[in-house]
Amino acid sequence: MDLLEYQGKQLFREAGLPTPWDALAKTPEEARRLVAGRKHVVLKAQIPVGHRGKTGGVLKATTAEVEEKAKHLLSATIQGHRVEAILLEEFVDLAREIYLALIVDRLDRAITVLLSIEGGIDVEEITEHGGLHRIPIEKFSEQLPALTKDLPQKTHVQMLKIVSQLHKMMIEKDATLVEVNPLALLQNGSLTLLDSKITIDDNALYRQKEIAAWRTPLHGVEKSAEESGVAFVPLQGDVAIIGNGAGLVMATLDMLTQFGGHPANFLDVGGGARSDKMEQAVDIVLSQKNVRGLLINIFGGITRTDEIANGLVAFTKKKSITVPIVVRLIGNRDREGSAILKEAGIDTYREMEQAVKAIVRKISS
Ligand code: GDP
Ligand code: MN
Repeated sequence: MDLLEYQGKQLFREAGLPTPWDALAKTPEEARRLVAGRKHVVLKAQIPVGHRGKTGGVLKATTAEVEEKAKHLLSATIQGHRVEAILLEEFVDLAREIYLALIVDRLDRAITVLLSIEGGIDVEEITEHGGLHRIPIEKFSEQLPALTKDLPQKTHVQMLKIVSQLHKMMIEKDATLVEVNPLALLQNGSLTLLDSKITIDDNALYRQKEIAAWRTPLHGVEKSAEESGVAFVPLQGDVAIIGNGAGLVMATLDMLTQFGGHPANFLDVGGGARSDKMEQAVDIVLSQKNVRGLLINIFGGITRTDEIANGLVAFTKKKSITVPIVVRLIGNRDREGSAILKEAGIDTYREMEQAVKAIVRKISS
């Protein structure tokens, strides 16, 4: 789960880390009221992507200008995301921008610190210039002096404290990534955390109740998919796809694209799906708009192909399917599965390529 900037800042503050004053606003009037008595502020769109500075999502304003700028941001769509809330933050006078991140390094099986004191907005740029240092967390205090020679001693000391607080927070909150870009060095030599990007391990959300409650509630088909326990991702094309196993579904998407088709979604019913789950899966993919065909690709192992067939037939008895359907069944009980579908007037294929070509042919005729 990726946190929004203001949520990350809340965790920073709870951990005792320094951040500038801030407040969250959802309307221009609220923004005006919240900044009363301050001077310069920065308005920051709360959207789940970075590069906001370069795409118009971060605006500097005097208190007098806040309402108008908030109105502008709150009606904007930035990088495809509607801005529903803005973070108002005290403008700070920065001398230098530092890049700091703590990541779980899977190769080292440890937490690693990424640091660049050369500053800059994009980590990609920093990496290209070779200015990004990777330091194992346990070696951080030992290696920092060599990297911060030109920084005041008090900044150096504060940096050690910040990294240690972030490390503790990362473990307590089950974060896999904590990125601070920029960690701002102020004119007076002290550091403050100006931005946050935090990823929490989804598998730990059951014990991170406060954070789990921040998840935006799902609705529509995505909600049905979560309730049914299928993995579903809507896409832009027009051929609905159902398969078992993420790898098989990915391969189906690839092959469909290779033969000129356009997948409308990714849907993995998982291993051992029974007929009711299959029925729900069909309902989910067909409720998407723009679907002009349905391609089902099942490789029966622990999944019984007759259960899949029964689920599809059960669906057709309740709702009529008006788009062409192509089914590829092979493996566990495929003779039974194919017979059930044949009786319902649905032919099956044994080869994936034939099935993919068939659906492309049917929707283009
Ligand atoms: P991002 O572009 O989505 O990563 O958004 P950031 O929160 O990092 O803001 C983008 C840039 O705006 C930062 O890298 C800073 O250069 C600048 N910025 C943001 N807040 C302040 C501030 O209070 N003072 C100054 N001087 N610059 C700021
Ligand atoms: Mn940033």
